[in-house]
Amino acid sequence: MTITASASSALTAKATFDDLGLSAPLLQALREKGYSTPSPIQEQAIPAVLSGRDLMAAAQTGTGKTAGFTLPMLETLSHGARPGRGQIRALVLTPTRELAAQVLDNARDYSRHLRLRSEVVFGGVKINPQIQRLQQGVDLLVATPGRLLDLHQQGAVRFERVEFLVLDEADRMLDMGFIHDIRRVLSRLPERRQNLLFSATFSPSIRKLATGLLNDPLQIQITPPNQTARTVQQVVHPCDMKRKPDLLSHLIRSNDWQQVLVFSRTKHGANRVAEKLTNEGLVAAAIHGNKSQGARTRALQGFKDGSVRVLVATDIAARGIDIQQLPHVVNLDLPNVAEDYVHRIGRTGRAGECGHAISLVAAEEALLLKAIERTTRESLEKVLVPGFEPTVLDAPPLDLSGGRGRRSPRGGGPTRNHHERNRGGGGSRGGSSRSASGRPKRSGRPPQR
Ligand code: AMP
Repeated sequence: MTITASASSALTAKATFDDLGLSAPLLQALREKGYSTPSPIQEQAIPAVLSGRDLMAAAQTGTGKTAGFTLPMLETLSHGARPGRGQIRALVLTPTRELAAQVLDNARDYSRHLRLRSEVVFGGVKINPQIQRLQQGVDLLVATPGRLLDLHQQGAVRFERVEFLVLDEADRMLDMGFIHDIRRVLSRLPERRQNLLFSATFSPSIRKLATGLLNDPLQIQITPPNQTARTVQQVVHPCDMKRKPDLLSHLIRSNDWQQVLVFSRTKHGANRVAEKLTNEGLVAAAIHGNKSQGARTRALQGFKDGSVRVLVATDIAARGIDIQQLPHVVNLDLPNVAEDYVHRIGRTGRAGECGHAISLVAAEEALLLKAIERTTRESLEKVLVPGFEPTVLDAPPLDLSGGRGRRSPRGGGPTRNHHERNRGGGGSRGGSSRSASGRPKRSGRPPQR
C-alpha cells in the first residue's frame, strides 16, 4: 500500500498527536518542543510503527521524518524490559556523524520524561568513551555503520535484543558506499525485528535493499521524488565564476543575512571562501571531510548558536544538518549531481517555515542548471545582481570527472559518468546560463531579503 501526501500540507494536517497512540510522557515532551500538529509523515508513520509494521518511506529531511520513526519506537521501548550490559534495543543507522548526532538530540528531547537511554556512536572520535557508555545497556542507539561494526567486533555492543532497525537516509548511505557495512550489520541482527527504511528517493538499488530487508512494508511517499519543498523561494543569480566569492560577500552584507549555509563543490573551495569572508570581517567557518570531528562539531555548534554567521560546507558534511528555520542557503557552486540540489535546499524552509535558496551560476554550469531544472521539474527564476552581471556568456562546461571543478577542453562535454548521474542533464554543449533556461531578469532593487 502506498500513501502519498504533499509536504505543503504539513501545516494543515487534521490529526493531533493525541490521536496517534502516543502516551502522556511523549505528548508532554512534544508540547514542550512546541509541536502542535503532526506532519503528514508522522500522521502515517506513527500508528503504522506502533502496530508493528515495517515501513518504507520516501521522505526528505524537513518533513519531520525523524520524529516519525523516533516517537513510535520510544513509545514501544518504554513498555519493554531494560537492556542488559552491552545490549541495545533499537538501532538507527545514518550516513553521517552530524545526522547521527541530530537524531540523538531529537530522541533525547522526545524521551525526556521516559526512563530510556539513548546514545550515539560514530567514527572520528575516541572509541573508549563509547565503549563505556554502551556497557550500561542502551535502549536506542544511533550509529554510523563503520564505527558500529568496530564496536561489535570488540564485543562492546550486543545485538541479540534488537527489536527495531532504522536505515535513515538510505539513499545517501548507498551513495557513500556503505552497502557492505550495512549488509554486515544486517547479517548480525536477530531475524525477528521491525524494520524502517527512510530514503529521499527509491532508486533501483534502494528497492533491492528493501526487498531483502522489509516484510510487507507500508509504503509512504511524502514529497514526490525530486520535487523541492514548496516553502522554499529559489533564485539563480547568473555571474562569472571568478566573481562568485565577491557576490556572496555582497549578498550577505547588502541583505544583512545573519545565518547563511553556503555549499561549495570542493573542500579547497570551502576553505578559500570561509577564509576570504573571515578576512573581510564576517565570522565564517568551513566544514568538510578533511576537518577533524572536533572542528566540525565546533563550527556546527557556532553556526547553531549564532556566533558563526556563515557556514561553508561540502555536500557530505552538510548532509542532514538540521537547524530550525534556517533562512538562507547559497549554492556557491551547483552540485555535480542534480538530486543533491534538492537535498541542499532541503536545509531551508523546513516544517512550514519559508526559506531562500540562492544559486550563483556561471556559464560553465549551464548544463548542471538544466539538469537541476529537469530533475525538479521547475524553471528557476534568474535575477541579475547589478555590478555582478556575467561577462562570460558562453563557456565550455566544467569537467567534473575529477570532482575538482576543472574546465574541460573547449567543446568537450561532461564525461559519460557525469551524464548518467545527471540523468539526461546533457544536451547542448557549451550553452550559457541564459540560453539554458530563458532570459534573466534585472533586479532594480537589492536582491531578496
Ligand atoms: P526532520 O525532517 O526530521 O529533519 O525534521 C525537520 C524539522 O522539523 C526539525 O527541526 C524538527 O524539530 C521539526 N519538526 C518535526 N516535527 C514537527 C512538528 N510536528 N511540528 C513542528 N516542527 C516539527
